[in-house]
Amino acid sequence: MTEIKDLVKKLITASGLSGDEGPVREIIEEVWRPFTDELSVSKLGNLYGFRKGVGEEPRKSVLIATHMDAIGLIVSHVRDGLLRIDEIGGIDQRILPGQMVTVHTQGEDLPGMVVQPPAHTLPDEAQSGPVPLKYLFVDTGLTPRQVARKVRLGDLVSFATEPIEFEGDCLSGHSMDNRASVVALTEALKLLTKRQHQWDVWAVATAQEEETMGGALTSGYQLRPTLAVVIDVTHAKSPGTPEHLSFEMDKGPTLGWGPNTHPKLYEAFEDLAKELEIPYQREVYARSSGTDAWMLQVAVEGIPTMLLSIPLRYMHTPVELLHVKDIARTSRLLAEFITILDDEFLDKLNWEKTEE
Ligand SMILES: [Zn+2]
Repeated sequence: MTEIKDLVKKLITASGLSGDEGPVREIIEEVWRPFTDELSVSKLGNLYGFRKGVGEEPRKSVLIATHMDAIGLIVSHVRDGLLRIDEIGGIDQRILPGQMVTVHTQGEDLPGMVVQPPAHTLPDEAQSGPVPLKYLFVDTGLTPRQVARKVRLGDLVSFATEPIEFEGDCLSGHSMDNRASVVALTEALKLLTKRQHQWDVWAVATAQEEETMGGALTSGYQLRPTLAVVIDVTHAKSPGTPEHLSFEMDKGPTLGWGPNTHPKLYEAFEDLAKELEIPYQREVYARSSGTDAWMLQVAVEGIPTMLLSIPLRYMHTPVELLHVKDIARTSRLLAEFITILDDEFLDKLNWEKTEE
């Protein structure tokens, strides 16, 4: 588990907010290099890692999408040396005041903190309960003159929370959504170096999931895979979470079921998990999963898509928490799935039952 933990920590410490994934992409590129035959970056900023299969041409391909972009903040206004901010992706705004952040300016990274004005200075409606984002600002401790010189509108602000390792293989930090899944995919690629696979594999670290899901959509059109598998995070149980809307940590990934996933692909994953005795949980999505799976499923002429999710607590806060073994289980299930893909696999996805 140490390798997984170290890689998660490395990836969540890198910035890379939606639309500006460069810093984290460069790290993933280096990490994927030994496990892939080719690496490239798309026009929108996706990272593609290609592993050639051993099957006969024309080979089928499976695309695995894990979004690498993170949520954060953007400087929307500067006044008296203080930075007004807007959100990149959906942030749980209740936890913002008091957070340490990093302001990424053109020249340097500045430390800062999100602060709120004293309650009595706010309008009546904002005096109780969480203070809305529009009243919050970032203080960098610099003078108005220094701020005017260094900070530009549109500079990005990311969380500066340090990762924490807890007893029993739990890890906390910001951007676990979805860097944890990038790690699961990385581990699967590593496992595949020791196994044969018939199909080609496209490992994709997608851009912009938290904003436009455009990374996933464009990867579907560009790479035209036969199948797609998306890995993301889902809500884990914690005291007070509704039983039916959250999942156990340390009980394996969830397998997505519903109109956003292909039922026969679901079955293939479920059968495999049972056979390999990898724990899993069934997660029902009655509508859009809100993940890259939503876009990939309808890209090109439609791509049979499956969604695996790693249970995680406190989503979209700087202290997301998960169990590292769930990452390992996800990567193993994924790698094993890739190795069972053969010429006949697509027959399993037929909508009509074929009678002999
Ligand atoms: Zn996500």
